[in-house]
Order: sequence, then structure tokens, then C-alpha cells
Amino acid sequence: MARLTPLLTALHRYDKSLSTWGRGKGTVIEAPVLAWLVETRQGRLLYDVGCDWKKLEDATLRERHYAGFVFGPPRMTPEQRLPALLGSLGLTPLDVDLVVLSHLHFDHAGGLGEVAHAEVHVQRAERQAALEGSDSACFEDEVGGPYRWVEREGGYSPMEGVTVIPSPGHTAGHVSLLLEREVGAPVVLCGDAADLEENLVDEVAPGLCWRDDPSLALESLRGLKRVARDTGAELWPNHDLAFYRRLISG
Ligand SMILES: [Zn+2]
Repeated sequence: MARLTPLLTALHRYDKSLSTWGRGKGTVIEAPVLAWLVETRQGRLLYDVGCDWKKLEDATLRERHYAGFVFGPPRMTPEQRLPALLGSLGLTPLDVDLVVLSHLHFDHAGGLGEVAHAEVHVQRAERQAALEGSDSACFEDEVGGPYRWVEREGGYSPMEGVTVIPSPGHTAGHVSLLLEREVGAPVVLCGDAADLEENLVDEVAPGLCWRDDPSLALESLRGLKRVARDTGAELWPNHDLAFYRRLISG
């Protein structure tokens, strides 16, 4: 059984076609960049850690990393750094026992420096692909950083009530998370297997796909929907501002 808290680490404006394959070009959307705090009797884990504050705050680093972003870098305030967000819950980064990364894009793995004491679980295929350097949304110092990497293969349960579900396609080794909650139906945190509710409802692949091939991502999306059917779980998209606002308004 787990307690689940979304942490809004930044907001990012970008072309909707980055979230929906073959759709939405010319439409700009604003997306939440989330980390998810999962608390169980066995400890606390973070599913994703948001962006690297240093690369957004420092003008030189920002220019170096985000120059190619048409709509600019994500917007992140000091209050949206993990230590501050955890602090608002009465916690410190040291209270985080484990990080599970959905994948290694900058808006998911950038905050690792804030929780550098913790083990970082990532799929082996994900890390290997990221280290090859062919994905410009992976920042080299993050995927190659001196963190406590633990490379995993396939699905497993890192803590009681928490199941890692491989959902590759957006990236080589993307994973989603199935959680049994203390209150309410189980939840599948889709990660970037489904940025928006639209991805789930219309079965549209994410706009960025591993090797530009949406078929694996679609297979994973349908797999997550099957998991939801079999377990009675709700499917929660990852970059959907309207969904996020409904979620936090209860
Ligand atoms: Zn991504």
C-alpha cells in the first residue's frame, strides 16, 4: 500500500506534436513537469526527479542546454526544487530511500543531484541508449553522472505495493509504475508512455519515439490499458496540465 503525492517541479511550454504523434503541430501547450513521491511502509521512493535547477538558473548553462528549444526551457522557481517541495511536506531529500526513473530525459532525470545519496533504478536498455548520446533530450552529465545507478531489466516490485512495468517506445527502456494505494483505486503512473489523457483515450503514441517508430510505444500504451483493466487501476498521464489541476483540486 502506498501514499502518492505529485510534486510540481516546473512548467514547460512546447509544441503539442511533441506529446501526440502526428498531431497538434502549431498548437502550444503548457505541461507540468512532475516528480511523484511514493510512501510505503518499506520506505519512500521518487518516481522521476524533474529538471536540473542549475541548468535553468545559470544563464550560460541554460543557453548551452536549451538553445535548441523553440519555446524556451521549462520554468522552474526555487520553491520547485525537490528539497523545498519535500520540505513543504515535512521531509528532507535524505528521507527519499530510492529513485525510480521512468526514463532519462532532462525533465525526468535532471534533479538527481538533489537526491544523490539514493539508489537510482533505471532499465539497462534505457541507460545504454542514453549513454550512446543519440537522444538530444538526454543531458550527458545527467545520464553519465556519479549517481548510485542500479540497472534493472524487466518488471519488478521495488517496494510493497509498487510494481515497475516496462513501457518502452517513448525511449528504449521507459518504465511506468503500478501502485496499490491506501485510499482509492490502484493507479498506473504512465510516465511519458502517455503525456496526455488524449494519448490514452485515442491511443496516440507520444510525439517523441525511440528510433522514430511509434509502434512500440503504441504497444506499451495498450499494455498499460490492459493492466488497468485487469487491476481496476486508473491511468494517470504525466504532462497533462488539465489532469494535474483536477488531481490536486481533489
Ligand atoms: Zn521524455
